[in-house]
Amino acid sequence: MYDVIIIGGGPAGLTAALYALRAEKSVVVIEKLGLGGQIALSGEVENFPGTMKMSGAEFAENLAAQVDALGGRIEYEEVVEIIDGNPKTVVTDLDRYEGRSVIIATGVKNRRLGAEGEDELIGKGISFCAVCDGSFYKNRIVAVIGGGNTAVEDAIYLSDIAQKVYLIHRRNEFRAENRLVRALKSKSNIELVLETTVEKFVAEEGLKSINLVNVNTGEKRTIDVDGAFVAVGQIPQCEIFRDIITLNEGGYVAADENCRTNLEGVFVAGDCRNKTVRQLTTAVGDGSVAALAAIDYLGG
Ligand code: NAP
Repeated sequence: MYDVIIIGGGPAGLTAALYALRAEKSVVVIEKLGLGGQIALSGEVENFPGTMKMSGAEFAENLAAQVDALGGRIEYEEVVEIIDGNPKTVVTDLDRYEGRSVIIATGVKNRRLGAEGEDELIGKGISFCAVCDGSFYKNRIVAVIGGGNTAVEDAIYLSDIAQKVYLIHRRNEFRAENRLVRALKSKSNIELVLETTVEKFVAEEGLKSINLVNVNTGEKRTIDVDGAFVAVGQIPQCEIFRDIITLNEGGYVAADENCRTNLEGVFVAGDCRNKTVRQLTTAVGDGSVAALAAIDYLGG
């Protein structure tokens, strides 16, 4: 039996582990893929206070090493259910864990466009991670779809690798920060394709072209590309908890400012929590708040 079971090994979950371990609680972190979450895929992090520049992978490795040095246990399994009770039971695809408290830190996953041909071409020309897959497109032609920070950052990143980058966005204004939009517009090999959506990804031994449609005029256009990067936001990974944890309309876990959910002894931290700002800083902030709330709940 553990004092704290943490579901998710991203910045929020690992920070929660760090705080709980330092309070001498027994901790297991259950992670389905790899430690570090989405930040591990970020090329450069320049907005983490106290650090001029670091790679996302470096940040994730250091945080995981901190947890390891304190004796935290990490299991690579997929959680399928939390069963309420005293203790609580966390069921995975391989095992069952009992804990006096649980912290949900499952984060978000990439949203798909839902366009024709998308599902079949994922991994065969369509990617969700420019930093991971950008190098495959040296001197080739790629498209990025989206208008948020991720899409604009991806387009800028890819413009240094690819011959040409199309940035396709459904509106004529960007959700991304102004400084990023300024940098985007300074790149001569990025073509902005605004007020346009993707109708179809066309395959021919991988991705061959994208059929586009203008949202105002209905005019259609086809662009030949070697790769496409879909960056249209994220969706929370909380559905499996819906039966016992209150989720908001968007599917994020509802919680108070101390990261307490509706279920006593169950806390939430990071991008999967109902909040407006999802940043590395807020994820680690949540991790510490949730852990301290769990410690308080445990009577420590
Ligand atoms: P986001 O901010 O939610 O932006 C998603 C973009 O995709 C929006 O432009 C949206 O268009 C578009 N979109 C959504 N659904 C679509 C659809 N079905 N078809 C076409 N376009 C669609 O997502 P994000 O860029 O991944 O960023 C997520 C969070 O991480 C944000 O809070 C962001 O600030 C943060 N982030 C920060 C940094 C940084 O600080 N360096 C880097 C990356 C991400 P509309 O604008 O029309 O809605």
